[in-house]
Amino acid sequence: MGMSEIELQNKKYVWHPFTQMKSWVSNEQTVIAEAKGNKIIDTEGKEYFDGVSSLWVNIHGHRKAEIDQAIIEQLGKVAHSTMIGLANIPATQLAEKLVEITPSGLNKVFYSDDGSTAVEVAIKIAFQYWQHCGLAKKSRFVSLNQAYHGDTIGTVSVGGIDLFHRVFKPLLFEPIQIPSPSCYHCTLSVGSDTCSMACVEALEKVLQENNEEIAAVILEPMVQATAGILVSPPGYLSKVRELTKKYNVLLIVDEVATGWGRTGKMFACEHENVNPDIMILSKGITGGYLALAVTLTTDEIYNQFLGDLHEKKTFYHGHSYTGNQLACAAALANLKIFRDENVIDGLATKVKAIEDKLLDIRQLRHVGDARQCGMIAGIELVKDKENKIPYPWEQTMGGAVCIKARQHGLFIRPVGDVVVFMPPLSSSIEDIVCMLEILKKSVEEAT
Ligand code: PLP
Repeated sequence: MGMSEIELQNKKYVWHPFTQMKSWVSNEQTVIAEAKGNKIIDTEGKEYFDGVSSLWVNIHGHRKAEIDQAIIEQLGKVAHSTMIGLANIPATQLAEKLVEITPSGLNKVFYSDDGSTAVEVAIKIAFQYWQHCGLAKKSRFVSLNQAYHGDTIGTVSVGGIDLFHRVFKPLLFEPIQIPSPSCYHCTLSVGSDTCSMACVEALEKVLQENNEEIAAVILEPMVQATAGILVSPPGYLSKVRELTKKYNVLLIVDEVATGWGRTGKMFACEHENVNPDIMILSKGITGGYLALAVTLTTDEIYNQFLGDLHEKKTFYHGHSYTGNQLACAAALANLKIFRDENVIDGLATKVKAIEDKLLDIRQLRHVGDARQCGMIAGIELVKDKENKIPYPWEQTMGGAVCIKARQHGLFIRPVGDVVVFMPPLSSSIEDIVCMLEILKKSVEEAT
């Protein structure tokens, strides 16, 4: 079939994110024209399951009537007004609700527009906080190998995915990197059948030796998503909380990917009853409709920023669209749906359906590991299963599986050779089974 006018226009004018445009323009591309429920529909009318929730943002499906309506109603009042020098109604109401539902102690809400900016805010708050405490030496950050916290300069600095970060090295500050809590790839407990949580010991050593210089530990709780759905062993997160308290270091949890029910609970921190000092939320916050993010902090942190003007304690940060009223109205509607439809309680059977299908997928010859945390799953493809030998990077096997899946009506994305499955929470059990059957068939065909 010939290229449509819109596809031609796209290839002529648009530069896509995280995309090698040379191959983009030389390959056939899908243009999405509409969506409904858990499916997206292209300009030819072909439907695809949205198996990655439009990059992990969509929660209740597309064109959810209550969110559509909330945005329309807000449009009838005001779309946007600045938060510098003015307050607004939806951002104020949303802040109260966020404080109610997030782990206790997080009482203040700072708005921004996406995951990266909200992490940037967290880094700057933590850095400035210690200066106000009279401990300016505490200025370094500890982050995990393979971490992904966004693509701005500050967030790339605390990131650990070499492919994304290497080229920017001269622009970055250096974090102290500690091993990822990843059991499948673990090289720390070699020779032992049981996990001794050597990754926690590595963190303790760093904190013991450097705590006077460390502002905060930043991590994704329970699942390092972009790293390839690396699921932490039980007890890891609570141990990190214990150690950060012991060594007087802040704990920043980045729930950009894990928040909003993705791990089976509203927030991943709840799995181990962890109360962080700073928490970051974005992606699913508006149900997948509009760009919005928040950085929540404790009163202890917030109070250190209070002072007379001459003390220069103000947090000088903010964006043009901070606290956007349309986005906050969508987020309030999103929260109401969680409550009215008991979304979290309804997840257990869906999580089980994923678990059951993964048992099957794990048996495939080129599936090295299939990891799951709630509604998040990652299928790691390997060349040699027994010896855990990966495919050569250039072979892009993850990409090959996703191309097959798309032909069969499922849109999914890989991170390297890990195929990510993160469907909208609204997916029915039948949808989940169907999507995972397509995924399995696609792995069989591509590998
Ligand atoms: N933090 C985590 C854990 C993420 O997974 C992402 C994006 O995938 C980000 C931050 C960056 O968010 P955004 O792409 O909205 O800037």
